[in-house]
Amino acid sequence: MTKLALVTGGTRGIGAAIAERLQREGHRVAVTFHGNDAAARAFQDRTGIAAYKWDVADAEACQAGVQKLQADLGQVVEILVNNAGITRDASLHKMTLEQWHAVIATDLSACFNMSRVVIEGMRSRNWGRIVNIASINGQKGQFGQTNYAAAKAGMIGFTKALALESARKGITVNAVAPGYTATDMVSAVDSKVLEGVIAQIPVGRLAQPAEIAHAVAFLVDAQSGFITGSTLSVNGGQYLV
Ligand code: NDP
Repeated sequence: MTKLALVTGGTRGIGAAIAERLQREGHRVAVTFHGNDAAARAFQDRTGIAAYKWDVADAEACQAGVQKLQADLGQVVEILVNNAGITRDASLHKMTLEQWHAVIATDLSACFNMSRVVIEGMRSRNWGRIVNIASINGQKGQFGQTNYAAAKAGMIGFTKALALESARKGITVNAVAPGYTATDMVSAVDSKVLEGVIAQIPVGRLAQPAEIAHAVAFLVDAQSGFITGSTLSVNGGQYLV
């Protein structure tokens, strides 16, 4: 039977590209979003993919949301892509506790919230794929992003630990670490700053969301069962680990 893939934050940007790519690969796909109803409607109209609204930072909402979508679709989640993320940039000496907690909760704790809900089902079926969308800035650090770099580096540690726990159960857990990608998140960056960033990318341009989706499709492929605990950098050569 076609597998059900769930992509958090899948109505815009990288998540939307991942959802559409997985749909083209023949998976059944559902996505989540948080507040942008217009973008969600446009995405649903364009793709026919069901979009569910809840806050991934809220553990109870994740539990209830996954239960509802599984009941609606009559199928359990076998592929999870933890993609939803936000930035709240400020230098540490100016960062508020709220900015810190918002990013840790949305980018890092959400991985726990979502993986915790689906992992038992994957373990009982002896198959599963989890991909966590980290960031180049979790690998190398970034000025003004102590919260975001900590969350994204935390996702990489989470990925490795859960990969070890899940390996004997046929579940792979990997991270993709994108470099700067042409989405709404990056269009919020000051154009002068962005010019400087592009100058540091050996490939000489931003990534396209579809290029990040390509890495995710590779990791969730049935033939990728021996790849687990890894972080796949998709950054145009900007940071080589
Ligand atoms: P966008 O801002 O374009 O889209 C973010 C998506 O996440 C939207 O669908 C949004 O929903 C959803 N979302 C945000 N907060 C929540 C929440 N609390 N609960 C549920 N859904 C939420 O982001 P990108 O596509 O640029 O980024 C996707 C991922 O890739 C993020 O994790 C980001 O950190 C990471 N990344 C991005 C890079 C880039 O250069 N763009 C580089 C490296 C990593 P809604 O539309 O309702 O707001």
